Amino acid sequence: MRDFSQDHRWLSINTATVRKSRGADLPLPDIIEACARRGIRAISPWRDQVAVAGLDTISSLVKTHGLELSGYCRGGMFPAADAQGLRAARDDNRRAVDEACELNAACLVLVVGGLPGALAGKAAHKDIALSRSQVRDGIAELLDYSRSLRMPLAIEPLHPMYAADRACINTMEQALDVCDELDPGRTGALGVAVDVYHVWWDPKLQAQIMRAGKDRLLAFHVCDWMTPTTDLLNDRGMMGDGVIDIPRIRGWVEEQGFAGYSEVEIFSTGNWWQKDHGEVLDTCVQRHRAAV
Ligand code: ZN
Repeated sequence: MRDFSQDHRWLSINTATVRKSRGADLPLPDIIEACARRGIRAISPWRDQVAVAGLDTISSLVKTHGLELSGYCRGGMFPAADAQGLRAARDDNRRAVDEACELNAACLVLVVGGLPGALAGKAAHKDIALSRSQVRDGIAELLDYSRSLRMPLAIEPLHPMYAADRACINTMEQALDVCDELDPGRTGALGVAVDVYHVWWDPKLQAQIMRAGKDRLLAFHVCDWMTPTTDLLNDRGMMGDGVIDIPRIRGWVEEQGFAGYSEVEIFSTGNWWQKDHGEVLDTCVQRHRAAV
């Protein structure tokens, strides 16, 4: 396992972690500058932040600072209530692949979606099996496109508490079943994003990381699980503050040959988003050395 205690060369910042500074929106160019000043070599930006700043602007800033993208957030949300919705999802996902290519991202992260309408508070139906088959079909179709542009797709299994509204793929096992079906040759075009927040509890986690192997391990996201947790979405903890044994999981991932970035991804309305982003980034650097 790599020694992270001496430097932060393998730290990546998911830009949602500092999307707010002292409670106010922080523009993506400012986030990039703040990361570059600290010698952080990689980021993973969100599409909405890129859209506000402009793809060309972000693309040239990334190049200027020699930053890598450990991933691009995000594609997915495949299920829909009708054919028009499915087409809209397909088109939007293709645009996400195009943007990921422009930014030279390591992969496009997929949060696959749940029951259509649920995120807005009104699910169109209760058939989660239908959603899962639409996810499978959506990934299959997107894979034809992404493969032609050499942009890997990383399915991110989300904690089961999000099955209704954000992702009906909730375990590594489910994600890898889809990978095995759609990319049996393990070509590297399709894999998983392992986010410790979502999968730390899974009794099959180590076995499924072994099953994934180097070919399928495309991204590694870290933060911590707080007890008690006060919000199901926006109360993620800083590494070291919660109950996840992050070094153990990183050890499993690296045993398979994963040698990429540890991407810090923290959504924290009540705590970290209230602090100054400089303090948050400095803390990420420290904890990357001490608790990842
Ligand atoms: Zn994640």
